[in-house]
Amino acid sequence: MLIMVRRAASGLGSPALCSVRISKLSAMAQSSPEQQVFNKPKVELHVHLDGAIRVQTILDVARRRGISLPATTAQQMKERIILQEPETLTGFLEKFDEYMHVVAGDREAIQRIAYEFVEDKAKEGVVYVEARYSPHLLSNCKVEPIPWNQKEGNLCPDEVVRLVNKGLSEGERAFQIKARSILCCMRHMPSWSQEVVELCKKYQNEGVVGIDLAGDESLNCEANPDHRKAYEEAVRCGIHRTVHAGEVGPASVVREAVEVLKAERVGHGYGTLGDPDLYRELLAQDMHFEVCPFSSKLTGACNPDFTKHPVITFMRDKANYSLNTDDPLIFNSTLNLDYFLAHKHMGFTEEEFKRLNIKSAKSCFLPEKEKNELLSRLYEAYGMIESTPF
Ligand SMILES: [Zn+2]
Repeated sequence: MLIMVRRAASGLGSPALCSVRISKLSAMAQSSPEQQVFNKPKVELHVHLDGAIRVQTILDVARRRGISLPATTAQQMKERIILQEPETLTGFLEKFDEYMHVVAGDREAIQRIAYEFVEDKAKEGVVYVEARYSPHLLSNCKVEPIPWNQKEGNLCPDEVVRLVNKGLSEGERAFQIKARSILCCMRHMPSWSQEVVELCKKYQNEGVVGIDLAGDESLNCEANPDHRKAYEEAVRCGIHRTVHAGEVGPASVVREAVEVLKAERVGHGYGTLGDPDLYRELLAQDMHFEVCPFSSKLTGACNPDFTKHPVITFMRDKANYSLNTDDPLIFNSTLNLDYFLAHKHMGFTEEEFKRLNIKSAKSCFLPEKEKNELLSRLYEAYGMIESTPF
């Protein structure tokens, strides 16, 4: 997700770049068998739970709760939610306004979203996924301010985490894949960050594997020390750490993520390439970049020409990175679309897909034993012997 912050668009948005092809590609995501360019087990590390909801679920929940929506059919609702072409910041944010008020604050909806998320990922051939979300943005009590213009209710961030854990673990049992979660701090809400790390600690053994920082990258941690304090606590307690950095922001945001927040992975990280010294350092450290190709086009984070995408440099340099969807609801995409684009426009081979998934598994936030089990599953599916050096 590019940004989840209430802020007037102030030149951060990219120009709306016309591309009819995007909507075609996006539409193809659901159906085209030729997109199955890597029909083998995959690992996904960067996907937002609240950006991966089924449209039908939004309609069902709205009906049950008596919330009126401007659209009554899934098709109409899709037309409102889905980004068809690269957008400005304001346009991207408006998409969340379309539906977050429907699901936030509703216990049944939150658990259902988590469960269906696992089913959808299993269908894409994902065997291990880390879903991220802000518990505060799904709450309607003990959160200040109450998001999405909701009335105050009785669903607090702590219970949101329990509901998501329950939905994910029921999904795991039903669909035979592994799903864990990462809790997001929001850059514009430093007052939430301490509670986020406390929730990570509390539910460390019940499905929560890490902490993230999402939102407007111009809000650095020097000006907002509460994020730094939350990350220091995460380090102290052995909570794994990732940070959205260098998506639209410059290399300095990535440097802060790694050096100040002690991030073990970087969300996106494209801006790293603007600082060759930093890039060399991160390559030497084997830093993991969570790359989201289709997302980066529709959010305007990267050049819309896929043949110029930063992940091509990562590939050529044998960097450590994953391919991810980010917000598949808003982009009307699946993970297969990202693989398809990488294959068709960026020269990715089956060998590279295998390599990046092995690197992703090695960089995931599972405990060592479970990580090794995941790696064994991949090695076996890929017909590789475990000693293959990557
Ligand atoms: Zn994201």
